[in-house]
Amino acid sequence: MKNFLRGLWQATTYFLFPPRCSNCREMVDERYQLCAACEKKILRTDFYDKKFPPLDKVLRVTKYRDGSRALLHKLKFDGNLNVVPALKKILEEVDGRKEISELLRGINFAVPVPLHQKRIGERGFNQTEKIFGDWLMKKNLPLKNLLFRTRPTPKLYKLGKLEREKILSGAFMAAEEIDLSGKKILIVDDIFTTGTTCRECAKVLKSLGAEKISVLAFASDFGENFDKNNLEAN
Ligand SMILES: [Zn+2]
Repeated sequence: MKNFLRGLWQATTYFLFPPRCSNCREMVDERYQLCAACEKKILRTDFYDKKFPPLDKVLRVTKYRDGSRALLHKLKFDGNLNVVPALKKILEEVDGRKEISELLRGINFAVPVPLHQKRIGERGFNQTEKIFGDWLMKKNLPLKNLLFRTRPTPKLYKLGKLEREKILSGAFMAAEEIDLSGKKILIVDDIFTTGTTCRECAKVLKSLGAEKISVLAFASDFGENFDKNNLEAN
């Protein structure tokens, strides 16, 4: 009886409040999804042409706006894990692209940009692991937590590039003394803004001997909207 009532309740809410696209409110099959048109609009799986030494390649999956921005905000700031299937669906969408194969060629494993313990405590999870974990596993690329944050850093979204560099300098350390000689590593991040965070992580990995470090970011505007739109708060 209880199950029956729950089913009835779900059917009723589905009827009264049908699921809508997180971006344009068009009706969709499931809650917290994007409609096909919005999904298509944000897909932009291309390499950043700007150089960020010591990073090798930087690839984004989507633009950081419209639908991807809305979904990432729900995950990051509301801690809403219901958006994860939609983010994974977007990743699957770009899976076969040549840019992805080019980026992953020769990579040994992936490292997520770490959160400080305090933030993990508040949010309960690292959003980057939620987005990329399963996708990387299917590609036999383990996600290794090799880095940690030495101190909590303030949210960066209102800060300029120089302020970010100052705040993030020395903010990451290796979780263990490990020899990374000859390793090719992929840093995964949810939002790539100025590149400061990923570069600081890369410096630590390089100091342990890593040969090559590239980045896969779920979303980035590649500097286009930095002033009004940036957000890299981990
Ligand atoms: Zn839409």
